Amino acid sequence: QLAKKTRQTSIVFEARLEQRSANRLELIAQLRKAITDNEFCLFFQPKLNLRTNSINQAEVLLRWNHPVHGLIAPGAFIELAEQTGMIRDITRLVLKQTYAIITLCANQNIRLSVNLSAMDLEDFSLIDFMQTLHKQQPDASRHIVLEITESAAMRDPEQALDILNQLAAMHFQIAVDDFGTGYSSLAYLKRFPVTELKIDRSLVQGADLDTDGQIILESTIEMGHIMGLLVTTEGVETQSEYELVKKLGADYVQGFWLSKPMPFDEFKLKHLVGNHDQLVQHL
Ligand code: C2E
Ligand code: MG
Ligand code: MG
Ligand code: MG
Repeated sequence: QLAKKTRQTSIVFEARLEQRSANRLELIAQLRKAITDNEFCLFFQPKLNLRTNSINQAEVLLRWNHPVHGLIAPGAFIELAEQTGMIRDITRLVLKQTYAIITLCANQNIRLSVNLSAMDLEDFSLIDFMQTLHKQQPDASRHIVLEITESAAMRDPEQALDILNQLAAMHFQIAVDDFGTGYSSLAYLKRFPVTELKIDRSLVQGADLDTDGQIILESTIEMGHIMGLLVTTEGVETQSEYELVKKLGADYVQGFWLSKPMPFDEFKLKHLVGNHDQLVQHL
């Protein structure tokens, strides 16, 4: 119900945003206020481990709880946040909240993936920020996966490599997101401290119905494995797509077939064990 409402609200709002692109300044002001007042909340989309048939991972997906328009998906504001540099503060809010959750779930074997944007890979002060979090809770970092896209890493590969190496040294895992949509420059990818490949939904959806699509998907999964990476297939929506990626040897599956992104309370009830009443108060 909430997910449905979320989707409707954000579609309406996105349409309005386009109409009112002249009102960019107003949106910038609203976004700035959203950061100050932390109007953001995190949604969680579970990932199924196909080896163990269990769920102990989720991707953290940002939502803006707008005072007038309700929940807004990142497609409507991330680009503007990047253009204005506000993404730096947003990334920090997301990381801080994710750390809080990991810390409070300390007895659970949970792993959360956070999306970084291109600008984060050019932001050396992010390292200091994460060092501080890491020093406060050194055990938490290994429960966090940082998702980057190839195109973000390729903007300035040497600098991105430098930053990612420092993050990997703090035991954050690094995943390549939306693989298959960008440069797919494997020569470079191999130099990055990456442990997971997330294959974009455009390579997954319909591959069960199309021989060429299946061959491309199969060889992408194999290539990930040859490079020693865990492979997640994104955007699996149907039983038949699920059966295909399982047959082709993917390690994790994520997509509406398994679950839509959900608020933390729901994720906790469905996928975390034990009593975590204190969590609710903290979020
Ligand atoms: P992403 O990282 O590739 O995340 C997956 C997106 O695909 C999510 O959209 C998710 O809801 C959607 N999705 C998952 N399963 C399916 C499926 O089976 N079918 C379809 N059609 N879609 C599916 P969402 O939450 O709207 O996020 C969109 C993008 O916004 C993300 O793509 C990511 O690039 C960005 N994003 C989300 N949260 C953050 C954040 O905290 N920071 C930054 N910098 N970017 C974020
Ligand atoms: Mg992602
Ligand atoms: Mg993706
Ligand atoms: Mg993405």
